[in-house]
Amino acid sequence: MEEKEYFLKLTSVLKEELTSDSLKTHFEQFEKVCELARIIINHSELYGLEKRKCEHEMELEESKKIVGGFFGQLNPNYFNKFKRIMANKQRINGSNTKYYRTKYYRTKYIPIKQLNKKENESSVSLRGNIDIFYNETVEDAYTIVHEIYHTFNHLYGQESILRDFLGESTTITAELLFGDYLQSKQIINSETAKIEKRNRVISTYNDAWGVIFEKNLINIYKKHHRLDRKILEDYLESFDKDSIEYKVFSERGKHYLNSIMDSDYPCLTFPKRQRYVLGTLIAFDFYQRIKENPEKIKDLFYLTDVLGHAQATYKEDLSFLSSLDIPFIKDNNIIVNDEVITRLENSFSQELSSIKLEKIYLTKNKQVNLAF
Ligand SMILES: [Zn+2]
Repeated sequence: MEEKEYFLKLTSVLKEELTSDSLKTHFEQFEKVCELARIIINHSELYGLEKRKCEHEMELEESKKIVGGFFGQLNPNYFNKFKRIMANKQRINGSNTKYYRTKYYRTKYIPIKQLNKKENESSVSLRGNIDIFYNETVEDAYTIVHEIYHTFNHLYGQESILRDFLGESTTITAELLFGDYLQSKQIINSETAKIEKRNRVISTYNDAWGVIFEKNLINIYKKHHRLDRKILEDYLESFDKDSIEYKVFSERGKHYLNSIMDSDYPCLTFPKRQRYVLGTLIAFDFYQRIKENPEKIKDLFYLTDVLGHAQATYKEDLSFLSSLDIPFIKDNNIIVNDEVITRLENSFSQELSSIKLEKIYLTKNKQVNLAF
């Protein structure tokens, strides 16, 4: 795509997204979400870190077996569901049984092709197709825990605002608990568990910047009613050259722009990214409270249940969640105040200090000049 065409397209994507009904709540809450994302990006020691490859080899079948053991210990209902899913015998939550053909979750295992990161994203589709990308390491077990946990609050063909905001908090909490389970069974050592947690943090850090990047982009668009290279470069010049903002926007700006544009249906990515930002923050908080008081695991199960509701019960659900001590859900609303930020900042810092963060800087495609 030529540059002029590229920016015209980008401008029209923003224009369309800003008036989209499905993103109304997202835009209403965007400022608060950015405040939460800043908790993560304020940790500049995370800048430039790359994910590390998991070295702990494990056959896929072994990973499935271990995950079964974990769900068995966590919750008998989840274990039964997991077993049925593995056998393709679990009916999809909320699917209409009046149909002649009952619908079941279908799990597909796909070997990871290192070349195309975008196609290596494991997921559960709205219609119950579970794609697990695997590489025969213990990471596969983490992936299975994460994706299968999504089915516990998945609803056939339906999206919901609450799931959109909180949908990753339960799965990431499950990952953290799984890391402890693996260590308690001496399946992995603490080093491997740290790498997995570290990889999660690094990917969330990138998402947090993606959220902030798109917030800035929207502000620029609102000011100029269009976007082009000159406008973006002028904006970049407004930052101090030594600031982390300057570094991120100049070195990663193009990456974040392309993540909007590199799709058959170009769209803003912050709705997806913020799920991981909020998810990681809540998960770290949850995880620490469960460690202090194992009874708190019930709150995780309650939250999982509520996230499995249809959009229609949004108001009641929000009011129930207010009783669960989830950091920014209070008084039937999403509230971000100093108290919330301090609490989440504390749990985030605490988890960060439990993992090693030695720097392995980005080497490929490093663009220090204006890279829009
Ligand atoms: Zn997920």
